[in-house]
Amino acid sequence: MVDLPTKASAFIDWYLAVVEEAGLTDKRYGVKGMNIWTPYGFAARRELDRVLVREIEATGSVPVEFPTLIPANEFAKEKEHIKGFDAEVYWVTKGGATDLDIPLVLRPTSETAMYPVFAVWVRSHRDLPLNVYQIVNVFRYETKTTRPFFRVREIHFFEEHTCQVDEAAATARVQSNLAAFRRMAAALALPYLAIRRPEWDKFPGAFYSVAFDTPVDGARTLQLGSVHHYRENFSGPYGIRYEAADGSQRLAHQTTFGLSERLLGAIVAVHGDQKGLVLPTAVAPYEVVIVPILGGASADPVRAAAAELKERLLRAGRRVHLDDGEERPGAKYYRWELRGVPLRLEVGRREAEARSATAVDRLGRKSSVTFDGLEREVGERLAEFDRALSSRAAEAFRGAFVHASTLPELSGSDRVRYLSWCGGEECGHKIEVAISGALLGTPEEGLPFEAGAPGPCIGCGTPEGVRWALAGRPL
Ligand code: ZN
Repeated sequence: MVDLPTKASAFIDWYLAVVEEAGLTDKRYGVKGMNIWTPYGFAARRELDRVLVREIEATGSVPVEFPTLIPANEFAKEKEHIKGFDAEVYWVTKGGATDLDIPLVLRPTSETAMYPVFAVWVRSHRDLPLNVYQIVNVFRYETKTTRPFFRVREIHFFEEHTCQVDEAAATARVQSNLAAFRRMAAALALPYLAIRRPEWDKFPGAFYSVAFDTPVDGARTLQLGSVHHYRENFSGPYGIRYEAADGSQRLAHQTTFGLSERLLGAIVAVHGDQKGLVLPTAVAPYEVVIVPILGGASADPVRAAAAELKERLLRAGRRVHLDDGEERPGAKYYRWELRGVPLRLEVGRREAEARSATAVDRLGRKSSVTFDGLEREVGERLAEFDRALSSRAAEAFRGAFVHASTLPELSGSDRVRYLSWCGGEECGHKIEVAISGALLGTPEEGLPFEAGAPGPCIGCGTPEGVRWALAGRPL
């Protein structure tokens, strides 16, 4: 048994301990910030990817996979983009002992790998929209402290890239992505705010960026992903143009949608507790763990009952584990709680005789399920668990924000601040200094609570053009 650090007072220590003790990743690899996906973490990641794939493909996006290496000349075509990523890229400069004529970049993201090829693929308006995505690893030379899932150098990455006929179609694609992320986050029981980043913090090369942020520890926030409208910023330099219906040549308008293994970090951070991980059913490597209580004279009926539970749930398509080892039941309960399994079924002699099992979900709620209605009842318990997890997270989320009406009120570290902002960069920087963090931007889809109308700007006092904005300390 390990004593986890206290989540409320030592969040990062708690987070690192949970990730390690639950066996999600192994950081004992020879390159800092490049972690090993161990079997349990890999299984969770695979389920997470299934959620992303299901939701993005429902919007008409199709999978592709581009090569990992990008020629330096293609990488350098969009100036803002290169400026944003230059310090973070890994270079491949040799093939064997030979210096390469054109050095290669290990992709930090795939705009510059894909867009020269999009310029070939897209010829006519009939080729549009082009909506493709890939789930691959990308590489960034992080100089800050690395943390599993939050900040790593080899990142498991989801990226959608699209080409649209015009700005309006690209704006519609952004909206479609926001809706897709809403469904993804709902499956993961993760509350978040869609926030339009200020000009100085948008994705390098973007027209605008909308990011998804969730509070994880007082004023600290975690960016879960982002959607970007590129307008013609990339299609220009990369020559992605098409022949319109009227015969004219036009540049495509582009969008991207990026997510990563951070979502797994967010699940750990948002749902986890003092017993360890709490996994929403959608990403749990095992949705159900069965623990036979083998004490007493006749273990055979208990073993038979446990085996029947496993067989039937497997046949019903559930991810199930039967823990029939020699340990005491208490040690097994502890382990599977630490690893976040949504539902535990316990079966002892009395239950085996009564053709029932005791069900305990990861929020500690106890009930009974019958063998007669097993598949349906387990399904119901899991759905109830997900709903309860979702409302618990939503309640904490609503309490994670506090209003600040003056700059000094930004200095506390207890909660994310919402404030009135005129949109000016100078005021934005005053806000960032006052909170020792970032002006996250303006909510794209409203605030998650009733806030009324914003007052005068917190930075300059103007009542003109003021909007609600969020400020916090990004992890
Ligand atoms: Zn102002």
